[in-house]
Amino acid sequence: MSNSGTSLTIGVLSEQNSREHRVALDPSATKHLVHSGFAVLVEAGCGSEASFTDASYLAAGATLATAAEIIDTCDVLASLALPSTDVTDGLAAGRTVIGLLDPLNNLSRVTALANQGVTLVALELLPRTLSRAQSMDALSSQSSAAGYRAAIVAAAKFGRYLPMMITASGTATPAKVIVIGTGVAGLQAIATTKRLGAVVTGYDVREVSRTEVESLGAKFLTSSVAAGAGEGGYARPMTAAEQAIQQQELADALVNFDIIITTAKVPGRTPPLLVSADTLTELKHGTVCIDLGASDKGGNVFGSIDGETSTTANGVIVVGGGNLAADLPASSSLMYGRNITAVIEALVPAGTIAIDPADEIHKAIVVSHAGDVTNAAVRTALNLEPLGSTEPLKAQAN
Ligand code: NAD
Repeated sequence: MSNSGTSLTIGVLSEQNSREHRVALDPSATKHLVHSGFAVLVEAGCGSEASFTDASYLAAGATLATAAEIIDTCDVLASLALPSTDVTDGLAAGRTVIGLLDPLNNLSRVTALANQGVTLVALELLPRTLSRAQSMDALSSQSSAAGYRAAIVAAAKFGRYLPMMITASGTATPAKVIVIGTGVAGLQAIATTKRLGAVVTGYDVREVSRTEVESLGAKFLTSSVAAGAGEGGYARPMTAAEQAIQQQELADALVNFDIIITTAKVPGRTPPLLVSADTLTELKHGTVCIDLGASDKGGNVFGSIDGETSTTANGVIVVGGGNLAADLPASSSLMYGRNITAVIEALVPAGTIAIDPADEIHKAIVVSHAGDVTNAAVRTALNLEPLGSTEPLKAQAN
């Protein structure tokens, strides 16, 4: 990287959500940035839940600071989620916040921060299929961690072995696992449950994922109303009628499985309900459902509550796992720190932040800049006129 001579300061605060155990920059990402000439200010204790000590940040070249000092002085705030107004109210115009900021669900905050002159960089909006974007792809890195973790949690909650076990004391049959939604998280859940010895099936509405599932040694199932590939490799939303057919088909299939891991999402939509209340009542006692789609807007499994585990009257264990990457905090933070570093490198080609509206990545991830909401999808959601494609974004002086 060629940022020598940069005078930019990157700040890292402890995440505010009590269920968030990750940190935006780990010591190795810190070392990389310091080596490239950035100053890195970290809040004391920010990495402790991910087992990164203050001493390890100091050894990486960071400076420990209070939250107030970081808010006051950092040029770029690296974050997992959009920080609360307690933090962002203190950011002067020209400051940048990078993270999984969920702008489409935080529209009023986006407007306020744009008016405040804060640059928001939302990693969810990255065009993920560009090869030069892959090192920045936080959705993939965190989904991969979540898929792995889902398999481990499922194995821990399940009352039987996952692999076939032939012992002098008897033989255990292997567990039957189905992973619904075979994107990044689902494929990792398949790979991990396979390694644990289960018999695994992958299910998706995108027929194109069949080869990926089969290459992991799992069987592939799909829906009769599939044809689900939409834009950018994502699934398209299903109609209510299609969803009803799919739920019924799944109900018939799911009774045969011991572990159900759901990861089905459609960008910008509420996750589809795939395991209905009726289906739950049909499942065997001891079946484990891990719902990676769980969110405050609902999930893939009826009644799942993000962050909570419950057991139905018929003995089905339901884990609301909407943020399981946070439960693997050291590995997730390490990968996330690499993603953040790559984004900073892309935005700071030569010492200062230089946002190029003609660059596909900048155009997608920069949500607000120099007083304007700049991202097209966010502008549409806010009912704002599209920005002219030739209209230059004001340069940010640092
Ligand atoms: P996602 O989190 O948006 O969704 C997870 C999975 O749920 C997807 O496979 C989707 O098809 C599936 N799904 C949605 N509705 C469903 C339904 N009703 N029933 C069953 N399954 C349903 O997906 P993701 O992990 O972000 O991946 C999305 C796509 O992006 C994939 O095609 C993936 O291969 C692709 N991708 C490509 C790259 C790259 O090219 N570098 C990187 C990451 C992801």
